[in-house]
Amino acid sequence: MDNQTWHALSEQLEYSTQAFINGELTDAVSGKTFSSLNPATGESLGQFSQCDSADVDLAVGFARQAFESGVWSSKSPSERKQVLLEFAKLIELNLDTLALLESLDAGKPISDTLGYDAPATARCIAWNAEAIDKLYDEVAPTTSDALALVTREPLGVVAAIVPWNFPAVMASWKLGPALAAGNSVIVKPSEKSPLSAIYLAKLAYQAGLPAGVFQVLPGFGHEAGQALALHSDVDCITFTGSTAVGKKLLTFAGESNLKRTFMECGGKSPHIIFPDVKNLDKAVATAAAAICYNQGEVCTAGSRLLVHRSLYQTVVDKLCQQVQDWQPQNPLLLESKMGAIIDEQQMNKVLGYIELGQQQGATLACGGKQVLSETGGFYIQPTIFSDVTPDMAIAREEIFGPVLSVIAFDSTEQAIQIANDSEYGLAAGLWTADISTAVRVSRALRAGTVFVNNWDGGDMTMPFGGYKQSGNGRDKSLHAIEKYTELKSTWIELD
Ligand code: NAD
Repeated sequence: MDNQTWHALSEQLEYSTQAFINGELTDAVSGKTFSSLNPATGESLGQFSQCDSADVDLAVGFARQAFESGVWSSKSPSERKQVLLEFAKLIELNLDTLALLESLDAGKPISDTLGYDAPATARCIAWNAEAIDKLYDEVAPTTSDALALVTREPLGVVAAIVPWNFPAVMASWKLGPALAAGNSVIVKPSEKSPLSAIYLAKLAYQAGLPAGVFQVLPGFGHEAGQALALHSDVDCITFTGSTAVGKKLLTFAGESNLKRTFMECGGKSPHIIFPDVKNLDKAVATAAAAICYNQGEVCTAGSRLLVHRSLYQTVVDKLCQQVQDWQPQNPLLLESKMGAIIDEQQMNKVLGYIELGQQQGATLACGGKQVLSETGGFYIQPTIFSDVTPDMAIAREEIFGPVLSVIAFDSTEQAIQIANDSEYGLAAGLWTADISTAVRVSRALRAGTVFVNNWDGGDMTMPFGGYKQSGNGRDKSLHAIEKYTELKSTWIELD
């Protein structure tokens, strides 16, 4: 399809803006609505049901009822697999629509949502579906007078609170394993990007998922989100979002029913270029992509680039050339590699950090400006800071925008020390031609994922999550299915 066709499709696109509760699209009990904006134009995408504690009570009730009835939780794994495969198939059949919804709602380039977000969402549901009827429980190696079973059972009602940067993918990373394991799931999408979750719930229902098993409550964090986290009949909060909100959710769990809590939070990931890097141009191109992809609104953005002093100025110069390829454009243009920042508030936050970086003595090597303001959208140039020291705010705090801090180092030990000097530990990466450096440094880095001679590599088979204040859970892989289950020990005494 060409640009004109995408544009025409976006104008004709119809979508739901209501909550999806017990198999039906419905208004909030209060009747209140809120508006979500298209970041590319600043225009409203519609009025969405503004769910709060009353809607949470309803949805949790239906989720519990569905769970207790066994309509999903007691289905055999292979029956659940069939329904989830059908769900994945419906997503596959509607990839264009899902991709368009994500682009309109979150400002993401259509080439990315077509190439990654939409297919990755389908793949995640299918992968978990395919896995679930291949998992065995355990028989403990106990005495011959007993049979001791170690079995896994679904948790019950799982509430997934997700962010706006990858709305469908983040929801699918929770939905896939939690549904496969037999839970009832309530998704609370970000108030900034509610479209795709509602769309997915409708597809899942169409695929045969029983009413109440997958519900969606659009609304604000302090209303719908908080009510879910404090609810005593919710068994688990699975969250992706900022560390600040993650900390609150842990408190809410403690104040209520000690629900299981899995937090996938922020990052300030170090990306190290050692002096023996085999292909410097590839490393620099990757470093540019690691901060520009998805407008830098990526939890694993390579936002701290640590470069050996011998290569430092060369890398800064090459980066400034490289990011010319990443100048923001309307996300619906197929050639757009970088779209719009999610909203004005986030844009101003990013611009504030660009100002602060200069005040604290870093050199603005290129970028740094808001552009395309005439569109009504929220666009920022890719921005490279050199002469950054590890103590500066732009080297320590998550900016969540296309702003890269380039820091010089002199020795491997110093690179590791700077890399680990962070409250976060989500991802890290390094470029070296030496296998021993690669392995030793990977081991020393305190991060949930380490990329060697690449950035953001991985697939559904790899757990994804953070050390330290980047969180305590893992999405993807079989480990994610495990976390949506309780372990039961059954000791059977034999005569
Ligand atoms: P956010 O923490 O502001 O919001 C995330 C979700 O939490 C939203 O649905 C929001 O409505 C809800 N929320 C906000 N306040 C709440 C409250 N008091 N109670 C309950 N729910 C509440 O994050 P964001 O701005 O949407 O997303 C950006 C953040 O997400 C970044 O920090 C980024 O690093 C992180 N992130 C992490 C991962 C990961 O896998 N570790 C992936 C993507 C994004």
